[in-house]
Amino acid sequence: MLQPGEPRQRRFSKTKKGSKNRVKFRNKLARKHLKVSRQRKDFAVKTARCVVQSHDLVAYEDLKVRNMLKNRHLSKSISDAAWTQFRQWVEYFGKVFGVVTVAVPPHGTSQNCSKCGEVVKKSLSTRTHVCPHCGHTQDRDWNAARNILEIGLRTVGHMGTQALSYAEGLIASGDINLEFGWRNPSG
Ligand SMILES: [Zn+2]
Repeated sequence: MLQPGEPRQRRFSKTKKGSKNRVKFRNKLARKHLKVSRQRKDFAVKTARCVVQSHDLVAYEDLKVRNMLKNRHLSKSISDAAWTQFRQWVEYFGKVFGVVTVAVPPHGTSQNCSKCGEVVKKSLSTRTHVCPHCGHTQDRDWNAARNILEIGLRTVGHMGTQALSYAEGLIASGDINLEFGWRNPSG
């Protein structure tokens, strides 16, 4: 898999074994890796805290990243480590700030119409969801986000009465936060 800074890795491989240059390069590489991993962690923490603190419930796809990495079309755009780390921070801040976080199975989230529920088959390259049944047209990811949220709210409903009344409160209030695909399931 292509990693940021790979040319550096390649240059390192060309240095002579046991040479001073190789040692120097190895140290340089290690520092670069450390920097990238710190930046990644920083980003994950900040983004996760921001997402959790500005919402009452966070629903996300329970992605099997390992399976996706096996697909070479997908592997370019996902980093196993980055997603797993971000998700862990979301769950952590959820506990800290008392915000419900729920992972939903990804089945059908991108193929179903978030307005009428009909299945609208589309390939990965189709970026816009256009429903022939109800006419609903929306960005592919946005449509998926609405499905994920609805499943998330339903799942929370099965978790217990406290969580249920909480989810019902959210639905009743009609809170719509378009940024993250919030919607009133009746609308
Ligand atoms: Zn539809």
